[in-house]
Amino acid sequence: FVDITMLHNATKMREDFFSSVSHELKTPITSIRGYTELLSAGVITDEDKQKEVLNKILDQVRNMSNLISDILMLSRLDSRDLLVEEVPLHIKTTVENVLENYDASIMKKNIHVHTDLEDVIYIGNDQQLQTLISNLVSNAIKYNKENGDLMIKLHEANDHMVLVVSDTGIGIPSADQARVFERFYRVDKGRSRALGGTGLGLAIVKHIVSYYDGKIQLQSQLDVGTQITISLPMKKVD
Ligand code: ADP
Repeated sequence: FVDITMLHNATKMREDFFSSVSHELKTPITSIRGYTELLSAGVITDEDKQKEVLNKILDQVRNMSNLISDILMLSRLDSRDLLVEEVPLHIKTTVENVLENYDASIMKKNIHVHTDLEDVIYIGNDQQLQTLISNLVSNAIKYNKENGDLMIKLHEANDHMVLVVSDTGIGIPSADQARVFERFYRVDKGRSRALGGTGLGLAIVKHIVSYYDGKIQLQSQLDVGTQITISLPMKKVD
């Protein structure tokens, strides 16, 4: 027999998700529409002003594109029946590649990066692990302060791979700490959007960690910084 309560909850969750996605897409679309109408009306004649408006449109397009990639990632994670190719990965290299991708924003904010990376070999899916690390590192940069520090540690302990990402940024108020892993939950919507955030980054992290039966620990202090520890059980290499 079918558990109607479970079905009902799943339907409700899906409805909530669709309604949030529509809402999240509405914001950039409304502003793109406004800016485009402004340009097409020809009221802005100054070339620099025109460029400014075009850049605003570009920012919103980027936000929408980030949102769609994140939704695709979540939906791929949801359909667990899809074949996820798992291979031995040098996670140290993954971390280094992720850091390289954020080179420009690290330089722009003058963030000091410290790494302590063991050469851990973890059997997993390359894209998932890259996304996991990338989402944590990107937050540690986005919510950091100018001249702040970013620390990444990677080691193996008790058959687990342990990854610690910490920053000296704005921190997360204790009341919000339990909720930041929920889809679309942000401490400060305006700030997150302005930084190109989708509100899905940590939800994706949580999803990937649960895919590998791992654990997440969050420690944060407002105005001092945040530390996220991920621990994933390691499969034995035959
Ligand atoms: P977003 O796309 O908004 O960054 P996330 O799911 O990655 O979405 O994070 C959810 C919220 O948690 C963020 O909007 C931010 O308020 C908070 N947050 C995440 N990481 C950090 C961090 N390292 N320092 C401070 N706040 C953070």
